[in-house]
Amino acid sequence: MSTTVAVIGLGIMGAPMAANLIKAGFEVIGYNRSRPKVEALIKAGGRGADTLAEAVAAAEVIITMVPDSPDVEAVTEADDGILAGARNGALWIDCSTIRPDVATRLADAARERRLRPLDAPVSGGEAGAIEGTLSIMVGGEAADFEAARPVLDAVGGTVVHVGPSGAGQTVKAANQLIVAGTIELVAEALVFVEAHGVDPEAAVSVLAGGLAGNRILDRKAASMIKREFQPGFRIDLHHKDLGIVLAAAREAGVAIPLGAHTAQLVQALRQLGHGDLDHSALLLLVEQLSGRGDR
Ligand code: NAP
Repeated sequence: MSTTVAVIGLGIMGAPMAANLIKAGFEVIGYNRSRPKVEALIKAGGRGADTLAEAVAAAEVIITMVPDSPDVEAVTEADDGILAGARNGALWIDCSTIRPDVATRLADAARERRLRPLDAPVSGGEAGAIEGTLSIMVGGEAADFEAARPVLDAVGGTVVHVGPSGAGQTVKAANQLIVAGTIELVAEALVFVEAHGVDPEAAVSVLAGGLAGNRILDRKAASMIKREFQPGFRIDLHHKDLGIVLAAAREAGVAIPLGAHTAQLVQALRQLGHGDLDHSALLLLVEQLSGRGDR
């Protein structure tokens, strides 16, 4: 009998993760707020659940992949949710990006219910989810991490236990701080070289080989040069994540001046009506602040 994995939240990330679990031989039962995404999972070889309670009760392992802290609280604490209906000893792996303090509180509640909770947010975007190469930063008990390894390895390429409950979300917040700041600097560099009449593609190819080399240059600079900003990872979600970073830094008494500045730039871009664009659209704001560009 193969392990049954419930996947709650079949969006940009959850759907391809569920598809990779099916390919790896797991029985996958999916539940999503809107029904069409469940139908897509059934077509991919999974089972569909009509209710959250049905998915939760069927599974030895439950993965949640929903947008934000209140969404994870809803699927966990609802009358028909995980705390109410999961089997004793079930592994609950939350792959959503949420506040570390919420992750810790929900993990305590789950342990009281004799569940085995892990916070396991991911990095690598839609492409990483499709390829099954996500970086997964995991918080929770070491024994529970070992038990979850086969499931995590089916969706991830780099899977690391980083500490107790909440630690995975803390590392993910650090990830989002680095990514946003790096995108902003790449955007500034591109607008800068273009303003001097230098070919940005030539500039990127040499910058990528030196100390300035980074994954944003490798993966996003080409589309930024072409002004293509379809998501990927939406500005609205990065705005949510920088709110998490700022609150967690304040709680720890750590100053993150560049992070706070970048959070303001992301917020400004959102207020200008670009919340649905990819986060690399920070370039549009650099252009606007420089009196260049046409959007
Ligand atoms: P998404 O495309 O908006 O998918 C979220 C899914 O959750 C939607 O299908 C939504 O259903 C469903 N949902 C929301 N509330 C629910 C509930 N109460 N019960 C059942 N289903 C519910 O978001 P995403 O891009 O996959 O992101 C999910 C999480 O991964 C977020 O925390 C995000 O920050 C993180 N993340 C995303 C990326 C990325 O590149 N996209 C990368 C790394 C991490 P509906 O169809 O009804 O909306």
